[in-house]
Amino acid sequence: MKQFSLTIGGRSVTTNRTYDVKNPATGEIVAACPEGSVELLDQAVKEAREALPAWSGSSDADRAQALLRVADVIERHLTELSHLVTREQGKAQNGPGANLEAGGCVAWTRVTAGLTLADETIQDDAQGRVVLHRKPVGVVGSITPWNWPLLIATWHIMPALRVGCTVVIKPSPYTPLSTLRLIELMNGVLPPGVVNVVTGDAEVGSRMVGHPDIAKIVFTGSTATGKGVMRRGADTLKRLTLELGGNDAGIVLPNTTITPLLEKLFWGCFINGGQTCAALKRLYVHEDQYEEVVAKFSEYVAKIPVGNGMDEATLIGPLTNEMQLDKVASYVDEARARGARIVVGGKRTEGPGFFYPLTVVADATDDMLLVKEEQFGPAIPILKYRRIEDAIARANSLDVGLGGSVWADSAEEAARWATQLECGTVWVNQHGALHPLAPFGGVKGSGLGVEFNVDGLREYTTLQVLNVAN
Ligand code: NAD
Repeated sequence: MKQFSLTIGGRSVTTNRTYDVKNPATGEIVAACPEGSVELLDQAVKEAREALPAWSGSSDADRAQALLRVADVIERHLTELSHLVTREQGKAQNGPGANLEAGGCVAWTRVTAGLTLADETIQDDAQGRVVLHRKPVGVVGSITPWNWPLLIATWHIMPALRVGCTVVIKPSPYTPLSTLRLIELMNGVLPPGVVNVVTGDAEVGSRMVGHPDIAKIVFTGSTATGKGVMRRGADTLKRLTLELGGNDAGIVLPNTTITPLLEKLFWGCFINGGQTCAALKRLYVHEDQYEEVVAKFSEYVAKIPVGNGMDEATLIGPLTNEMQLDKVASYVDEARARGARIVVGGKRTEGPGFFYPLTVVADATDDMLLVKEEQFGPAIPILKYRRIEDAIARANSLDVGLGGSVWADSAEEAARWATQLECGTVWVNQHGALHPLAPFGGVKGSGLGVEFNVDGLREYTTLQVLNVAN
């Protein structure tokens, strides 16, 4: 079994205490994870601070080259990383799963290497010259969740490094292994201290947020924890990017030809077993077409293979942990008790692993937990509407706003309605598609700031105005 270690200041660090990371599909031990601590975090921050002057002082071209080397080293270890993701997190190798996640890390790193944040001259005349200049914010603390551990780590780390920041990352205790390996690999091609990793739970995370030598926190996780990060970060006036929970709505406009859309609708709802921040989590269908959509969608869903993600045929794996399994099961039970119709699934799978079947819940209503709360699992409620305006209002009624989608034969008509949704990204006839050049972030309770492209780079900088008199 491979030994995993923390990486601090370019050195592999083992700890006295470890805990077992278990495969959510089988319950088998994947590996022992070294347990980090606030003391180790402090050490990592010290190393990141010491590495900062040389890294932030290196040329833009050198940092771009360094990120290309990082992309190459990830690419050489794609299979290893992808297997680690499946074995610790559960998602399938195939479909939009672990292979896509590992490959996405390479793609995002290369695109980030190619971005530049040029100075902007806003005045240059007889009176003087005014230039907007961006400086790296300093040491960045990254805190990641368990659903897309490797890709989200990449989204946090690469733009920070690109602009000259150094990083300490703390992965989720559920899925630390792929991140530990990623940082180990990166340290093979980067100077020591530029990127460091310390494992740990809320205590280590909380220390990170309050740490006086960390200038910025980039956090992806639940809205509740994100609000805590904002409160705790206030003492040191932390710069923050918060990518938080969502409860995305999808609206099928009246008279939509549904069959050609079923595959995209399926992945919109069930990608990574629904454990995706910007998955479609509430589907609104016009009453005239309601039974047709429920029947056709349920028939499609029932055919998708769920199982151990390492099996070639599997498209959807288990939930990553028992807490999430219990939550999804209880939300479906509550919906059933309130009169919802379970058309597919709806009953916990016996045996080892945290499996819950793909579940379609018809006759869902706005007051059900499965609709009001983020279920983050493989159960989609389908709601009925009469007027499109009402569907939009109901979609907008929650205090989160990450993504949303409208589905229709006419993409133009769908786009007109879609822009009325209160969320960071709206999709037409698809849901959840991301692009490394399209800024991604939430509104309302779904977060602060964006990731990707130069807008994402700016989040790791402070703005300095150079004002020269002539
Ligand atoms: P979580 O909030 O429980 O944990 C996220 C991270 O925060 C973990 O590393 C955890 O150890 C750490 N943490 C916990 N308590 C902390 C504290 N007090 N201070 C600092 N750090 C602390 O989230 P999760 O269950 O791992 O992830 C699922 C959630 O993440 C869902 O709500 C999902 O929608 C959201 N998410 C959002 C995005 C996005 O881009 N908006 C992407 C993926 C996941």
